[in-house]
Amino acid sequence: MFGTNGVRGIINKELTVELALNLGRATGTVLDTGLIAMARDSRMGGEMFTQAVISGLTSTGCSVVNLGPAPTPTLQYMIPRLGCVGGVMITASHNPPHFNGIKVIGSNGIETTREIESEIEAVYNSRKFKTADWDKIGRVTHYDSAIDDYLEGIKSLVDINKIRERNLRVVIDGANSVGSIGTPRLLRELGCSVVSLNCQLDGSFPGRNPEPIPENLRDLAAAVTATGADLGIAHDGDADRAAFVDEKGNVLWGDKSFALLASRILARKKGSTLVTPVSSGRLIEDVAKKAGAKIDWTEVGSVVVSHRIEEIGAELGGEENGGVFYPAHQPVRDGAMTAAQIIEMIASEGKSLSQLVSELPTYFNTKVKVPVSQEKKEPILEALLNLTKDMDRITIDGVKIIRDDGWILIRPSGTEPLYRCFSEGKTQETSDHLNQEGVELIKRAEKLV
Ligand code: MG
Repeated sequence: MFGTNGVRGIINKELTVELALNLGRATGTVLDTGLIAMARDSRMGGEMFTQAVISGLTSTGCSVVNLGPAPTPTLQYMIPRLGCVGGVMITASHNPPHFNGIKVIGSNGIETTREIESEIEAVYNSRKFKTADWDKIGRVTHYDSAIDDYLEGIKSLVDINKIRERNLRVVIDGANSVGSIGTPRLLRELGCSVVSLNCQLDGSFPGRNPEPIPENLRDLAAAVTATGADLGIAHDGDADRAAFVDEKGNVLWGDKSFALLASRILARKKGSTLVTPVSSGRLIEDVAKKAGAKIDWTEVGSVVVSHRIEEIGAELGGEENGGVFYPAHQPVRDGAMTAAQIIEMIASEGKSLSQLVSELPTYFNTKVKVPVSQEKKEPILEALLNLTKDMDRITIDGVKIIRDDGWILIRPSGTEPLYRCFSEGKTQETSDHLNQEGVELIKRAEKLV
C-alpha cells in the first residue's frame, strides 16, 4: 500500500474516499490518541481526502489541527511545534495531475518509518479500527498561522541584511501549487523583487507538469532572461524541492544546487557530516572533501536520509535530484529553505549563479534501464554481489562500483521489472564506457540465475 513516499494513486480510481477514511482510522488506531496536524497541496480532491482522513482520525479519538493548503515542509515544521503526535499530508508531490496521495508523518516531523507504515497497513487490512466512545471523539481545529511561523523560521537562519543589500530580482514558478503560498512572500520579505509565474493554486496544473525538471521549466527560463532576473526558482507540487535557473536561462540539475549549498554549509564546521544516497556522484564527494566533511552513504530515498540525519546528528543531507535537508531548520527536504540559502549564497559571494556553478567540477552521466523478469530481480542481485565481490564497491543499495575515473551504480527498480544502471565519469565517453560495463554485468548475472 505504502510506496517510497506514502500512498499514491489515481484520484477516485485507486485513491478513493473510502481508502482515505479507512487509512485515517488505521493511522488513528496506530498513533497514540493525541493531536494530529493535516495539510494538503493544491491537487484535485485535496479537500475531499482531507475531510475523509479527518473523519477517520477523529472517530478513533485523535484530534486534528487542519493547516489547510500548505507545503509539506510547512506541515513537517509545525508538527513538533504544535505538540502533535503526528501528521498527515495529502499530496502526490511531482506526480502527474490525475494523481493524489496520503503520507503519514511522525511526531518529529519526519515521514514515519517502514515499521509504522506496516503497522498502519496491517490495521487497515484487518479492519480492526479503534472506535472512540461517543464522548471521546476527536475535535477539529484550524491553525491559520502555519506559513507565518514557517517563514519566520527560515528567515531566522539566513543573513537578511546581506540579501537585502543585493536587491535581487527573482522569478518564482510555484507549479500552481502550495509553493506559491510561501516562497514569493518569503523572497519579498528578504528584499528581493519578485516576478511570479504559475502562482495561482489550480489542481489541473495549467502552467506545467509539477515535476521541476528542465523540460518542464522552459517558461521559467524564458521569463528569467526576458525580465533580466538574477535567477529563477521552481518548486515541485508540494514544495519540498526547489530547482534553479541561472541568470542566463540555464536550468541547473539538482546536484549542482545541492553541491553549491554543501560547499558553503559544510565549510562552516570542521568535520561535518553529509548524509546522501549512494546515487549521488563525485561532484558532491569533491565538495565534501574540500570542506573537510565526511559522507555517510544511505539507500536511495528521502525518508531514509531524514532518519539517518536525525540518528547521527549530521549537519546536512541532500539528493542529486535537488532535495536539500538542512537540520538546523529541520531534517527534511525543504524547497523554500533551499531557495533562501541559494539566494543568501549569491548575495554574500557577490557572484552570479552561473559563475558559482562554473566553479564546480563537471562530470558526465549515463543512465540506462535493463528489463529483467520480476522473479529474477532478487537472484540477479545475489549474483551481482558475487560477481563484484573483489571490486572496490558499496553495497548499501544495489551495487556501486568505484573506479578512479568514475563509478557505476546498479540497482533493481522498486516498482518495475527492470534494473537501472547509472554511471559517471570525467568525460561522456568514460561514463558511457562504464555504463556498458554495468549493463554487461547485469546480463552476466542474469545468465547465472
Ligand atoms: Mg515533493
